[in-house]
Amino acid sequence: MTRVLVVEDDAQLARALVINLQARQYAVDAAPDGATALSLAAAEPPDVLIVDLGLPDMDGVDVIQALRRWSRAPVLVLSARSGSEDKIRALDAGADDYMTKPFSMDELLARLRAATRRAAEAPTLEPVAGGQVSTDDFTVDLVAKKVKRVDRDVRLTPTEWHLLEILICNPGRLISQRRLLQEVWGPSYSTKTNYLRVYMAQLRRKLEVDPSHPRYLITEPGMGYRFEP
Ligand code: CA
Repeated sequence: MTRVLVVEDDAQLARALVINLQARQYAVDAAPDGATALSLAAAEPPDVLIVDLGLPDMDGVDVIQALRRWSRAPVLVLSARSGSEDKIRALDAGADDYMTKPFSMDELLARLRAATRRAAEAPTLEPVAGGQVSTDDFTVDLVAKKVKRVDRDVRLTPTEWHLLEILICNPGRLISQRRLLQEVWGPSYSTKTNYLRVYMAQLRRKLEVDPSHPRYLITEPGMGYRFEP
């Protein structure tokens, strides 16, 4: 049974979430504030969390940050805050996905399934001893810094390689535009999202079978990018 921790101070919404999740055979815990959430998460480690950002005792972003010191369970943020700055802050703190209120329960359930599936699949895709990550269409050798498609070697520029490396080393996780820009180009480039668009398009041309319908290098509009194994 998948265990979900719902962190939400709106009692009515929390109840609706708990009922819907229990009806789909999830084991559900609910916390009305950040402190309760962290102690519950420590006592009964959840497989996935749904976290509101506006909590009475602390900010949801701080809850995520505290959780990330010891847990890799996927975190889905469910917040009324719709600004891209809020999304980026939550993602940089370690959230895996972000939905704004009002929301559709069906979409929330779908994203929850996707998050738990990715988490279940992730361990096998962590760079292994040989430092290789393989998909159906290409193999990345993180030690030799080489990329191979089924039939041929792929040449990447240092910038393309750096971008790909960050995404590949975080399989299934949404990496914010800001983090990618800061790590690849440097702190003063954190708003140059057009750089990212150009380089991601190049990477897709080199790696994806159909670059206009990417299977591995996924854009999350307004938020960032994700390597989908
Ligand atoms: Ca709230």
